[in-house]
Amino acid sequence: MNFFAELVEQSERLRYLPTRRLFRSETRVEQIARLRYLAWLWLAGGVAMAIATKVCFHLGARLGTAGFVYLIIIVLLSLMDSFVTSAVFSITAVGCLAFFFTQPIFTFRVGELRDLAALIAFLTTSLIITTLVRRVRWLGKAAREQARLLDLSHDTVFVRDMNAVITYWNHGAEELYGWKKAEALGKTSHQLLQTRFPVSLDDTMNTLLTTGRWEGELIHTTRDGSQVVVLSRWSLQRSANGRPISALETNNDITLRKRAEDALRRNQAAYLAEAQKLSLTGSFGWDPASGEIFWSEQSFRIFGYDLDVTPTVELTLQRVYSDDVALFRQVIDKATSGEQEFDCEYRLLMPDKSIKHLHVVAHVVTDEPGKRRFVGAIMDVTAAKLAAQKLHEAQTELARVTRVTTLGELSASIAHEVSQPLAAIVTNGEACLRWLGHPSPELAEVQNCVTRMIGEGRRASDIVHHIRTLAKKDFLQKTRLDLNDVIHDVVGLTQREVLSHKVSLCLRLASELPPLLGDRVQLQQVIINLMMNGIQSMDGIHGRPRDLLIESYMDQGGNLVVAVQDSGSGIDPENADRLFDAFFTTKPNGLGMGLSICQSIVEAHGGRMSAASRPGHGATFQFGLPAIIERSDDARAQSEFQGVAQSCSAIGAPQHPGPHSHGTVSF
Ligand code: ADP
Repeated sequence: MNFFAELVEQSERLRYLPTRRLFRSETRVEQIARLRYLAWLWLAGGVAMAIATKVCFHLGARLGTAGFVYLIIIVLLSLMDSFVTSAVFSITAVGCLAFFFTQPIFTFRVGELRDLAALIAFLTTSLIITTLVRRVRWLGKAAREQARLLDLSHDTVFVRDMNAVITYWNHGAEELYGWKKAEALGKTSHQLLQTRFPVSLDDTMNTLLTTGRWEGELIHTTRDGSQVVVLSRWSLQRSANGRPISALETNNDITLRKRAEDALRRNQAAYLAEAQKLSLTGSFGWDPASGEIFWSEQSFRIFGYDLDVTPTVELTLQRVYSDDVALFRQVIDKATSGEQEFDCEYRLLMPDKSIKHLHVVAHVVTDEPGKRRFVGAIMDVTAAKLAAQKLHEAQTELARVTRVTTLGELSASIAHEVSQPLAAIVTNGEACLRWLGHPSPELAEVQNCVTRMIGEGRRASDIVHHIRTLAKKDFLQKTRLDLNDVIHDVVGLTQREVLSHKVSLCLRLASELPPLLGDRVQLQQVIINLMMNGIQSMDGIHGRPRDLLIESYMDQGGNLVVAVQDSGSGIDPENADRLFDAFFTTKPNGLGMGLSICQSIVEAHGGRMSAASRPGHGATFQFGLPAIIERSDDARAQSEFQGVAQSCSAIGAPQHPGPHSHGTVSF
């Protein structure tokens, strides 16, 4: 309960207490002083009554006149003391009136009925006036006591009328603000204290008038010019007919607490700034409606701007790397048009031509009704990106070395295995020639030699076949797969190549494809191979877009198809028959094993590969794999799997994504 509420409750209790208990109990000295005062009062009252009686009697005053004079004396006595004194003197006055001023005089008998009525009226009037006077005295005393209680409070308490003129000013107010009661009374409170409100005075008064209360923090200026922060509580006082008459204001000095809170906040801000510096993470706030942006110190550091610059979207754009501007604008547009969060990566081109990689995450906060504000973090991930790039390069190099080593081993094994049948074929061929060179050729021997040569040739073929099967079934680890997931995996893995070769990658994936049974890693290998071939085939393309499209769909036969289409050099029709042969390559550093292995993997999954091309305009390599279709899904499979989701990399979508129809070379 606040101080004022306590005070009100206390004054309510006081109202119903007997007068004697109302105020503090008297000491013995005070009792003696009071008795002495009573004795003097009674003596003075008695003398006044005697003089009044004598004067009125000698002047021959009538009953009414004498009664009026007595009434004045009784009122004066009741103003000076208790009800008992007034009552005793009222009865004495009635006695005097009956003895001296009614017929027959000098007796207490009242002869006439009219005089008796007058005496009764006198007594009643005297008692009523005495009671009223006593009540007025009691109210005055209670008000003084309440004021004394308010003075005891350490809080600042003052009362002001509806024009803000101060009508009461307690001791706490004198101490806090420095003005004495006499100086403050009659002054306008808001002018005297130079009050600074959190909201306008009109709004504050509105709240007070509608709810009867107001509470908030105010800043006041004291007499010596210093400022104090107070927690202020206002209570409205209304007249009996409900009209607002005054406001009671209790103020609690919270200046020290505020200072401590500010210091704590400053400390926390300092720690936060240091942590942001260490983690290379800045924070920001952005109001898309007003365009207003807040950056932490670290954010200014990340963007390389001075702290006195006002951050704006345009200012940020000036730093965004040209290739990422479209992506950046897309994020801003989406956020402005209602997106609740964003998570993106883009690069900055700094004035010293260095590149920074940023990862930005943000979400909407609605701490103020009707306001949408993004709060987020800007992480400088340049170091992590460079490390990842180095790791990738190391992995690529390792893969190349492994490939070369594997090829070396493979070649050695092929050479070792195949050299024997080849040597046998050569030996048999020579023998065959020798038999044929005889004057009478030994045809039976020739036949034997040729049969042996065929046998050795088959052996060599079996060895090659055996080596190829190494890439097949034996190493397959088939699981239930979502083809589009496999494509997404690969897109993630090849992102760097796509960017570094300035290729625009576009995905056109049928939604809700049925699953397939396959080896995730090997299928990834197939798609990577096809993508890398496509990317390399576009290396020499200048003056037209380098577009790579990956499609997934279900064909008429219920097979899941992946097609990789490029806009590169296309396939020379002369090479069409040899594309999938092991060791066939047209590249200076090529191995010619990629497509051959891809085909082996696809076949091991029960599928087949094919290629199509428009020479000079690109090629499409595709493979189909059987889908797992649950029997119940069979009927609706075709109709359901028609939805297509298309997404392209930020660089741009291909302009001619349709299947090649002219000059197609099929295999
Ligand atoms: P490599 O890539 O080492 O040459 P591959 O077996 O992957 O081995 O490819 C064999 C050959 O097929 C390539 O050298 C190239 O001539 C041709 N080829 C493959 N993919 C494409 C393509 N997308 N566009 C044009 N030619 C291609």
